[in-house]
Amino acid sequence: MPRSPTVVRTLPALRRALDRMSAKKATIALVPTMGALHDGHVSLVRLAKRRATKVIVSIFVNPTQFAPTEDYSSYPRTWKADVARLAAEDVDLIWNPDVKTMYPDGFASAILTDGPAKVGLEDRIRPHFFGGVTTVVGKLFTQCRPDFAIFGEKDFQQLRVVARMARDLDLGVKVIGSPTLRELDGLAMSSRNIYLSPKERRAAPQLYSAMKESAKRLRAGDDLAAAMAGGSELVARAGFRLDYFEVRHADTLAPITSVKDGPMRILVAAQIGTTRLIDNMAV
Ligand code: AMP
Repeated sequence: MPRSPTVVRTLPALRRALDRMSAKKATIALVPTMGALHDGHVSLVRLAKRRATKVIVSIFVNPTQFAPTEDYSSYPRTWKADVARLAAEDVDLIWNPDVKTMYPDGFASAILTDGPAKVGLEDRIRPHFFGGVTTVVGKLFTQCRPDFAIFGEKDFQQLRVVARMARDLDLGVKVIGSPTLRELDGLAMSSRNIYLSPKERRAAPQLYSAMKESAKRLRAGDDLAAAMAGGSELVARAGFRLDYFEVRHADTLAPITSVKDGPMRILVAAQIGTTRLIDNMAV
C-alpha cells in the first residue's frame, strides 16, 4: 500500500522536509500544478518518478496568472480527490502553500521574460499571463530546490518560457517536457474541460482534427499559408472563436514563412461558449 504523501503548507516545514531528503542524497523532481488533477497530470508524475528518487507535486492556484475577468475564483478545486490520486502514485510530498505564504503582504517582485514569452501567441491574448507564471514557477523552484521539473507539452509556450527562464537565471533545474495526454477522441485533457456543455464537448475534438489536417498538408509540402488557413477554417466551422491557429519554429516559437524554416509546431487557442482551450502538435 502506498503511503499518503506528506502535505506541507509552510516554508519552514518545507525546508525541514527538503533537509530530510538531502540527508538521504535524494534527487528531486517537481511537478507544478494548479490541482483538479487528471490523467495528464498523472503522466507527468510518472515521468518525474522515473527521473528522480523523490517527487514533489505542488498544488497552488496562482492568482497572478489570472486576469480579473478570468476564472480564478471558479477554477475547479478538488483537493481530496487530488490527494488520493497522488497517494496512488506514491508521491512523496505535496507542496500546498496558501496565497499569503506565496505572496506575503507587500510582495513587490516579479520575474519578467522576453524571448518565447513575447512571440504574439498566449502573450498577445493574455498579456498578464507569463509574468504570473514565471514569478510563481521561479518561486516554486527556489522553494523546492528540485533537480528536475516536469511540464506538459500541452502548454507548449509555457514549457519554452519556463525552460528559458531556468537557464537564463541559473536556477539549477532541468526542465523536462512531457507529451500531451488526450481523450480517446483527441481532445487534450484539461482541468477546464469540465466547463464544456455536452454540445461543446462534442465539437471540442475538432481542434485536434484541424491541427492533424494542417500538419498533414505541411508534411506533404503544401503551401504554408494555405495549410494554416484550411485548419483555421475547420476550427471556425466547428463553432470556435479563434484566438490563433499558427505554425511556429518549435524551439524559438518565432514565426516561419516556409516549411524549410522548421522544426515546426502548430499552436492553437480558441474559445467555445465561455471556455477557452489551447492545444498544439508537432509537424
Ligand atoms: P495545470 O494544473 O493546468 O496548470 O497544469 C499543470 C501541468 O500539467 C502543466 O505543466 C501542464 O502543461 C500539464 N498538463 C495539463 N494538461 C495536460 C495533458 N493533457 N497532458 C500532459 N500534461 C498536461
